[in-house]
Amino acid sequence: MRPAYDFVIVGAGFSGLVIAERLGAAGHRCLVVEKRNHIGGNCYDRTDRNGLLYHVYGPHYFRTNSTAVRDYLSRFTAWREVKYRVQVYTAGRYWSFPVNLATYRQLCGRADASEADFKAYLARVVVPNEHPANSRDAMLACVGPELYALFFKGYTQKQWGRPAEALDASVCRRIPWRSEVDERYFHDEFQALPRDGYHRLFENLFAASGADLRLETDYREILPHVRCQHLVYTGPIDEYFGHCHGPLPYRSVRLQLEEYSSADHADGLLQPALQVNYPGSEPFTRTVELKHITGQVSPFSNLVREFSEEHVNGVNDPYYPIPGPESQALIERYRTLAEREAGVTFIGRLAQYRYLNMDQVVGAALHTAEKLRLQPGPAFSGTVPSTAARAVA
Ligand code: FAD
Ligand code: UDP
Repeated sequence: MRPAYDFVIVGAGFSGLVIAERLGAAGHRCLVVEKRNHIGGNCYDRTDRNGLLYHVYGPHYFRTNSTAVRDYLSRFTAWREVKYRVQVYTAGRYWSFPVNLATYRQLCGRADASEADFKAYLARVVVPNEHPANSRDAMLACVGPELYALFFKGYTQKQWGRPAEALDASVCRRIPWRSEVDERYFHDEFQALPRDGYHRLFENLFAASGADLRLETDYREILPHVRCQHLVYTGPIDEYFGHCHGPLPYRSVRLQLEEYSSADHADGLLQPALQVNYPGSEPFTRTVELKHITGQVSPFSNLVREFSEEHVNGVNDPYYPIPGPESQALIERYRTLAEREAGVTFIGRLAQYRYLNMDQVVGAALHTAEKLRLQPGPAFSGTVPSTAARAVA
């Protein structure tokens, strides 16, 4: 007899585990299937050989303006409020970033330049554009060509393998700029790390769900062996449909952990800020030294260095959906298929193909779980589409 579940949930990231917890609390029997050997998705963290925390799949800076999301997650973790500080290294020096009055003072070489001076500079150089069609035009409209060339042009090309002109305005608009001295990377009201790490948060979330878990398992292997009413899918949307319309573009990242002893650096820290971005010809995009914000006291430290790569199916993981004209028509076709797929909910950064932050994903998962609880909809057929059948459809 095949075990019966109300919900099979594909993926144990924030999307999958929040839904599992909410549905479990409502009395539903859930199975979470995860192809990696751990829960937590891309937010997974662990300690290096010296006991220092690092973010395995790239830096994850939690921040939110949503009290609902914060209150919900606070049931599974205490927090350590932090200040995320980023600098840029280019043209042989470190720069204050995001662009603010301190950056302008470095640019013009006058430590006494005022906010009025900076505003006058911007008024001279920006290229006004109320509805920029791409990330280059968006940045030219905020900071003008000089600062765009210094901080955004090269970094964006390296990070995405495409010029800023090929990306939606929303990509570079994630980065704020300010005319006063203000070096906060984000505006959000609440900026904090889970006090005992993301992994502990995920363990608590999963324990509360009461769900069953299969790690190191592709959901396609397990479907023939279980029965379920509804499938919640948080993997890549094009993969679900067997890439029948062709693969969606994603960007991948190679992360290199570097562990250092105190002998290397006298002050116990390796770089001047939590994160340093490199828009120049270096082969990597950024380095992150988490010790700046974990509060861990140690003679050791570590850096995670990021090398951006094109995603190749089966070779590396899809990290970033690529918002821009090249993916627009294709994603619409997959979304149409997803709408027609009875008994399946597509949710999360990869299933929705949206550049979503953790708090947005948690907010959406809470909302979706509530909808599923009240109205599970038609039953899942129990099989996933075959590539051939979909290509004909
Ligand atoms: P994921 O975390 O990707 O989880 C999906 C899970 O599904 C994965 O574990 C995957 O292995 C599994 N899966 C896929 N296919 C299958 C299959 N066939 N069978 C079984 N399992 C499968 N957000 C922030 O708020 N702040 C940040 O600073 C931040 N930094 C980021 C940095 C990087 C480099 C990246 C890539 C993302 C960053 N994010 C950040 C975004 C954050 O990672 C996402 O919002 C969040 O992880 C999305 O959760 P998810 O559950 O939708 O997806
Ligand atoms: N960006 C840039 N220079 C920087 C930082 C960011 O050009 O020093 C652009 C780049 O295109 C990047 C986007 O702004 O992908 C969003 O930056 P963010 O730091 O939010 O990237 P993420 O943490 O999502 O990788």
